[in-house]
Amino acid sequence: MQSCKMWIGGRWVDAESGMSFTVRNPSTGQEIARLPLGGVPDVDHAVKAARAAFPAWSRTPQAERSRILNQIAALVRENVDELARVESLEHGTPLEPARKVIMFASNAMDFAAGASRSLRGEVIRAFPNTVTYLEREPVGVCALITPWNLPLFMIMAKLSMALATGNTCVVKPPSINSLIAIRFAEILAKSDLPAGVVNILTGPGGSVGDALASHPMVDLVGMTGSSETGKAIIASSAKSIKRLVLELGGKNPAIILPDADLDRAVEILGHHQFFNSGMTCGSPGRYYVHEAVHDRFVQKLVDYARKVVVGDPADPATTMGPVVSAEHRDSVEAYIRSGVEQGARIVYGGDRPNKAPLDQGYFVMPTVFTGVTQQMRIAREEIFGPVCCVMKFNDGDDVVALANDNVYGLCGSVWTANLAKGLRMGYELRVGSFWVNQHNHLAPEIPWGGIRDSGIGKEASIEGLKEFTQLKLMSYELLG
Ligand code: NAD
Repeated sequence: MQSCKMWIGGRWVDAESGMSFTVRNPSTGQEIARLPLGGVPDVDHAVKAARAAFPAWSRTPQAERSRILNQIAALVRENVDELARVESLEHGTPLEPARKVIMFASNAMDFAAGASRSLRGEVIRAFPNTVTYLEREPVGVCALITPWNLPLFMIMAKLSMALATGNTCVVKPPSINSLIAIRFAEILAKSDLPAGVVNILTGPGGSVGDALASHPMVDLVGMTGSSETGKAIIASSAKSIKRLVLELGGKNPAIILPDADLDRAVEILGHHQFFNSGMTCGSPGRYYVHEAVHDRFVQKLVDYARKVVVGDPADPATTMGPVVSAEHRDSVEAYIRSGVEQGARIVYGGDRPNKAPLDQGYFVMPTVFTGVTQQMRIAREEIFGPVCCVMKFNDGDDVVALANDNVYGLCGSVWTANLAKGLRMGYELRVGSFWVNQHNHLAPEIPWGGIRDSGIGKEASIEGLKEFTQLKLMSYELLG
């Protein structure tokens, strides 16, 4: 088992307490690494290191900051096989998807490096003898708190935006997927990034995350995770006023109208449902299917689920690995049981693979529920697993009202040959991202972020870069 250290102020350090914790391989349950159990004093060191690095980094010419980001992205690409191996070992992602997501993350970093070079302020002509303009400046020290569902991507996505715009950062990855963060820190250590610009701490959310979010020297908290944690961060960050960029949970509706291309809908929705074992915030959480096509849609979805190959993530034939931990498997299984108890019907899956060696890991079979109704827990709450919840509607139902009847507002899609009808529904849906005949179709150029309990602010794209800047009003008088 390997032992790792944290990366603070350009040095490898243990937790001040000397304590550590282990991370496990979710495919086997075996311990794979030991990491420092950071605490409040370590948070303080890391924030002070980021604060000390801020003046120089924020004044570094944009072209130089962008060059360093391009260098980090290139180093990630050079090491993609090793990084994908670690992500697969620690998180359970099959190797090929892990590789693709890491390549996407390095592409996003290159995008941020390039796009930040075209960010500009604005001139306001309010008075004839006064020039007033808005300067776009970095916010300061950013606490970046990331989830376990796409571990390296989440770190790189946030860092890309923050670093390109001149901020310095303290990153806190989720405890159960911290090893990949330390591997990434090794890459940062090889780059030209000055000491203290990025600091990486390991430890639990309740102590390290909370101390970061409430630290008076932190200017911005960028967090991706559950809505409950988002609300805890809003409360703890409120001891001082900070910028918040929160990417939170979702229970995303996919509405299938009678004239939808069902093959296309199932191909795209099935991919997003079972990718990463259903542990993606944008996965379709609720399928509202018109009664005229309900049975045919369900049959196709079951056929798709049957083709998902559940197995060892290191096996190239595997298309779906385990969920991330024993606790998370228990939570997904509790949702499956609650669906059955509340009267929904499992038409595929619902259990674990029971053959060795998969019975040692945290696997859940792809699962399709029909007969789901609006008040069931599986229809209302985020399951974050490979579980499809299909609800039937008819012409008498206001399907948009049903889709909006949920606390989340991350994303949604409508599937129809009638573009006008699809777009009209899109205007009414209370979500941050919407597609007709697509779902969760993203690129570094496209902003991402939810509304209501799904979060505050946007990530990626020019909009994501702007979240990490603030506007300062500057003015001078034309004398003489
Ligand atoms: P989580 O909320 O449990 O943890 C997220 C991070 O917050 C972790 O690093 C954790 O240690 C930290 N944390 C926990 N408690 C904290 C506290 N009190 N103060 C500060 N930090 C704290 O989320 P998770 O289980 O790792 O990830 C799954 C969740 O993330 C799902 O709800 C999913 O929808 C959401 N998610 C959202 C998006 C998006 O873009 N909207 C993307 C991916 C995941």
